[in-house]
Amino acid sequence: MDRVARARALFHDAEIEALLVSADENRRYLSGFTGSAGYLLLTQDHALLISDGRYTTQAGQQAPNWDFHLITPPQHSLIDVLKAELPKLGLQRLGFEAAHVTVTQHTGLTRELGDMVTLVPTEGLIEGLRETKDAGELALLERAIAITDHAFAQIRPLLRPTMRERDVAWEIEKALHDAGATGLAFSVIVAAGLNAAKPHARPGDDQLGVGQPVVLDFGALYQGYHGDMTRTVILGEVDEQWQRIYALVLAAQQHAATEVKVGMTGAAADALARDHFAAADLVDAFSHGLGHGVGLAIHEGPSLRRASDVPLPAGSVFSIEPGLYLPDWGGVRIEDLLLLETTGPRTLTQSSKEPLITWD
Ligand code: ZN
Ligand code: ZN
Repeated sequence: MDRVARARALFHDAEIEALLVSADENRRYLSGFTGSAGYLLLTQDHALLISDGRYTTQAGQQAPNWDFHLITPPQHSLIDVLKAELPKLGLQRLGFEAAHVTVTQHTGLTRELGDMVTLVPTEGLIEGLRETKDAGELALLERAIAITDHAFAQIRPLLRPTMRERDVAWEIEKALHDAGATGLAFSVIVAAGLNAAKPHARPGDDQLGVGQPVVLDFGALYQGYHGDMTRTVILGEVDEQWQRIYALVLAAQQHAATEVKVGMTGAAADALARDHFAAADLVDAFSHGLGHGVGLAIHEGPSLRRASDVPLPAGSVFSIEPGLYLPDWGGVRIEDLLLLETTGPRTLTQSSKEPLITWD
């Protein structure tokens, strides 16, 4: 079944006859239209793409099977299109994406359409479909991951103790661009020394230094799909503390990346790494979840964390990224992306996990 057919098949259980799609990634996923604004109105028989005049040509090219409706807000808005089209389509129950509609929009929809249709909030319908990647998506993700790997191989030999975090971040950006990225999956994280104890530190003026952890977390964006990788390196020399912490994180990462299985809950997957740290009496230093799905969004389903009782589906692509963060020392995180197949997990990220960097 194609994506639109799979979406329509959800309507019955959601007790809707049509879905108004307002999330950017869901719009792109279903229609192929990559514009930055617009809506879809999907019924069992009709498919409408509603966007503004910037996208008339592009919508026709990217989404030829969708019936394009031009809006020119505020004169002619989404609500005007819906008021004109809904009676023709004979719909009673219109689903909307509760997580992607503002209070203002909802107030307007209720006021203007409330007499015409029942507005039904839905959650995660299309996001659920997106958890299982099709062959086309997998090819784009593999490309984003390969570009990310390539960029790391390029910048790794350049690292020196006097470089500032933001110098390294800039080298990574350039390397991603040169390797074919269409953008950054997210702002590059480079965190040296004590900064490495903050999982999402922003690169600043601190130098990498000798003998301290340096966390590098980045990814290529490629045709809408996101790479995501973390490596932690150390320049020049290592000490016992480093060796202990790095070995623990590496072992937890490898264990989870080998043992994760289809049907395991997000919580059970998370425990593969968390139990490892608990055995070393360091569980409190692992301050985030084990991983997250990636695709058209950098963070999407499935979620690998303590609170998730949702089983991991076959065909999902997600990160395994355990870390340990010690405020008066620094931190280590290692992150790969994996494809979960029915036969088991397959690690897609290929970059070296040899952390020690030396130079002449
Ligand atoms: Zn990451
Ligand atoms: Zn990640």
